[in-house]
Amino acid sequence: MSDATAAAYRALLDFESQRESVLLAPYAMQAAASAGRRHSEPPHPYRGPFQRDRDRVTHSAVYRRLSHKTQVFTGELGDHHRTRLTHTLEVASIARTLGRALRLNEDLVEALALTHDLGHPPYGHAGEDALDACLAGVGGFSHNRQALRIVEELEQRYPDFPGLNLSLEVLEGQQARVNKATAERRPLLEVQVVEAADSVAYDTHDADDALRLELLELAELLEVPLWREAARRVARRWADLRDKELERAILHELIDWQVGDLLAGAIERLSAGGIDSVAAVRSAEVIVRPNAELAEQKTELEAMLHERVYRHPQVLAMRQQAQASLKRMFEHFLALPDLLPPAYQNRIPQVGPPRSVGDYLAGMTDRFAQQQYAKIGGVASTSL
Ligand code: MG
Repeated sequence: MSDATAAAYRALLDFESQRESVLLAPYAMQAAASAGRRHSEPPHPYRGPFQRDRDRVTHSAVYRRLSHKTQVFTGELGDHHRTRLTHTLEVASIARTLGRALRLNEDLVEALALTHDLGHPPYGHAGEDALDACLAGVGGFSHNRQALRIVEELEQRYPDFPGLNLSLEVLEGQQARVNKATAERRPLLEVQVVEAADSVAYDTHDADDALRLELLELAELLEVPLWREAARRVARRWADLRDKELERAILHELIDWQVGDLLAGAIERLSAGGIDSVAAVRSAEVIVRPNAELAEQKTELEAMLHERVYRHPQVLAMRQQAQASLKRMFEHFLALPDLLPPAYQNRIPQVGPPRSVGDYLAGMTDRFAQQQYAKIGGVASTSL
């Protein structure tokens, strides 16, 4: 490296170390204030700690497997609806938009968003409920807790420590998803925007996917106040849209409207509360949340999706098959733990057979779970 290049490199690193203090709002979480990692590591020369967290997640095997895990509808239905991975990317995209507008730490926002659903088992919430029943005697199963187990223990990628050794702020953010009601202090704003973005994403895309899969009709969605209001907003700009064009315009409006509402509300609360530090965020009310009317409309939409989509006979049929296959595999591997991959056999003395079998099953993609089920003599298909 020439002297000039070395000087330019040093200048870039200097700028990098200062950019957060220049760009971020006083209530944002700065990398320099991070509490560090469980296993201490030297700093990276040109990536901040939250950038490293994000990179560790995107390079992990558990993250890649999200592309073959169900969000609501299985991959056998086609190639157009959301998977757990595309959902995660939509959440990250919306959360980054919110984070940048509020001058929060986008690296931390992204790391949190990419982590938030890592713990989902195969077959979406159907799989989660089945594993929860299988593991009832040893504390049950929740995808939010499982994400923590994965990033702290199960994912093996580095010689010096188990898991991904993510920053304590990322772990705390995920922990806040586990015990939302009992947390003693408010989550960081970066955590709050991911939580809000998750809700915007699934409320919008579950309806979109249900329309595409013809489990719902636009007319049914327009019975719900949230969709009616979005359609009214669209009509002010384009009076004559019909069918698919109208659906797409409503979906865009729904996201834009909700994000705009979240921002307006957050800015108002930050200003009214005189929030000027992370400490103030910790003791304030939740700052990033929809206004009361919009929150009620979202709840009405969710009730309708629950009734007509998540409980649609075709979806319920898939759910029953998925749960039966997971329960049977659970019993099978519990009876024959020697058939587990070595990494899971090795954990049995530490966590006990049921939990290790549960960890193995939870890590499976939908496709791999079907293959394994077929291997033990089950009927492989979980298609509708
Ligand atoms: Mg999610």
